[in-house]
Amino acid sequence: MRIAICPGSFDPVTLGHLDIIRRATPLFDQVIVAVTVNPNKTPTFSPEERLDFLRRCTRDIPNVVVDRCDGLLADYARSKGACALLKGLRAVTDFEYEFQMALINKKLNPELETMFMTTSSAYMYLSSSAVRQVAGYGGDISEFVPAQILQDVMGRFTSERSEEK
Ligand code: ADP
Repeated sequence: MRIAICPGSFDPVTLGHLDIIRRATPLFDQVIVAVTVNPNKTPTFSPEERLDFLRRCTRDIPNVVVDRCDGLLADYARSKGACALLKGLRAVTDFEYEFQMALINKKLNPELETMFMTTSSAYMYLSSSAVRQVAGYGGDISEFVPAQILQDVMGRFTSERSEEK
């Protein structure tokens, strides 16, 4: 079975992420969307919320599994028998970091290939941090995040703003 892993922090999942996940599914038997948990970062949404958001948005895609990854991605991929790490590339600015990670992961797990898929032009500008920023100021994020999670994402920022008052 050919298994690919789409890793990320997904804080929260955006339409850009979902586009990459959807386009990956015909290419592999199974796509595991792995929510990476970094103990040094404080995300806006907890790992449980991020997993729940992803599950709700990928429910209609049969060969997608959502899971969390607490340790090294290279080890996680080995434990799942995955052949590929699939990353989305938005712009050259993504490239240097991704290139370095790909080489490190190759050293740690030589059987694992990192593959890059270019973003759809409609989502070039989109990132989770942009979503957090716009939502933080009460802006409209309905064209940035999947409809299934829109209320929950907006709700978090609305309650944060009312606490600040
Ligand atoms: P972000 O940079 O939005 O915080 P993550 O760390 O969760 O995203 O990224 C997970 C993966 O999704 C990475 O490979 C990243 O390059 C990719 N990705 C994020 N946003 C987009 C987008 N708009 N188009 C294509 N790929 C994307």
